[in-house]
Amino acid sequence: MADVVLSNVHKKFGTFTAVEDLNLDIQQGEFISLLGPSGCGKTTTLRMLAGLEFPTSGEIRIGDRVVNDVPPGDRDIAMVFQSYALYPHMSVGQNIAYPLKKRRVPKTERAGMVAKTAEMLQLTPLLHRKPKELSGGQQQRVALGRALVRDPKVFLLDEPLSNLDAKLRGYMRAELIELHQRLGRTMVYVTHDQLEAMTMSDRIAVMEGGKLQQFAPPQEVYRAPANRFVASFIGTPGMNIVDGSLHEDAGRWTFTAPGFSVDAGQLGPDARPGPAAMGIRPEGLTIGSGPIQGITQLVEQTGHENITVVRLEDGLRMTGRTAPDRLWRTGEPVQLSIDARQAHFFAEGPTGKRL
Ligand code: ATP
Repeated sequence: MADVVLSNVHKKFGTFTAVEDLNLDIQQGEFISLLGPSGCGKTTTLRMLAGLEFPTSGEIRIGDRVVNDVPPGDRDIAMVFQSYALYPHMSVGQNIAYPLKKRRVPKTERAGMVAKTAEMLQLTPLLHRKPKELSGGQQQRVALGRALVRDPKVFLLDEPLSNLDAKLRGYMRAELIELHQRLGRTMVYVTHDQLEAMTMSDRIAVMEGGKLQQFAPPQEVYRAPANRFVASFIGTPGMNIVDGSLHEDAGRWTFTAPGFSVDAGQLGPDARPGPAAMGIRPEGLTIGSGPIQGITQLVEQTGHENITVVRLEDGLRMTGRTAPDRLWRTGEPVQLSIDARQAHFFAEGPTGKRL
C-alpha cells in the first residue's frame, strides 16, 4: 500500500525550477533515500513532504489524504534535521518531551512515553543532561528521540548523520537500520552520501537537476543504472566511463574507443550507430592480462584491495581493483581486459539512457 505519493510535483522559486515533474510512490514501512549532488532538489522535496514548502503544481498524498494545503503540524510526520536543533536550556528528557507538551499530552502519560523512547535509544542514563554535555552521536539520538516520541506515520530525515565523524556515522547508520526494522515506519531520508543510501534504503530515488533519474532498490541502481548520470554517481571508486562510438553488424553491436573495442552483443531498441559511451565498474576490469596496453599511474592500497589507475596509450585513465597481494609499481607497463558482460552502454550526453 502506498503511504506517501508525489504526483507530477513541480516546485519553482521565481523562474527557477528546483523540482520538475516528480512522481514517487512510497510504500508503507519503506525506507527510501533521496540521493543526489548538491542542488539536485532533494531537500526541497523533503520540505514539501514536511509542509515547509508548497508545490507550485502537482499533488502530495500522505496516507489517504491530499496534504498540499495541510500545515506541518497536522501531517502526522516528524522531521529530523542535520543540525539537531535541540533546545540548549532543556535537559534531554525535556527535549524529548517537548513535542508531547506542545500537543498537550498529560504529564503522567508524557513521562512514560519519554522513558520508553529513551530506553529504545539508550538515552536513559542521560535524561538529565543538557545537550552541550553530550557527544554529537548522543545529540543526534536525542533529536531522533524527539521525532520518535510522537510515533508519527512518516519520518523525514534530512542528512541526519552529516555532522558526525566517520566512525560514529557507521554506528548510527546501523542503529537507524535497526530502528527502522523495529518500528516498521515509512522513512524518507535525504543524503548526498551514496554509502548511506546504498546500505539503508529499500529503494533509492536518484535525483539530478531537479529531475528523478531512477527509483529502484540499491542493487538495481548499482547493477542496472538507468542512465550515464546514475552510473557515474553511484559506486566508489566510480564507474569508468569512456566516450566512443557504436557500430552494428547483423544485430550485434561493437563499441570502439581510441585504443580498444568491446563486443557489446545485443542492445536495446534505443541503440543507434554513432557516438555513445561505455561504462565498466572497476571490478569489471582485469589488470595484468588482456589486449589493452597501459601504464600504471596510481596505486592506492586500502588494506583489503588495491585500487589501481592505469593510463592507456591515448591518455585515457581506467580504474581497477586488484587483490592486495598483487601490488603494481607506479609507471609499470600492464595489460588490461574488459569483461564485456559487465559493460554498460549509454546514449550520447551526460544523462544518456542505458542502451
Ligand atoms: P544540498 O545537498 O546542497 O542541500 P539539495 O539537493 O538538497 O542540495 P535543494 O536545497 O533542494 O538542493 O535546492 C534545489 C535548488 O533550488 C538549488 O539550486 C537551490 O539553490 C534552489 N533553492 C532552494 N531553496 C530555494 C529558495 N528558497 N529560493 C530560491 N532557490 C532555492
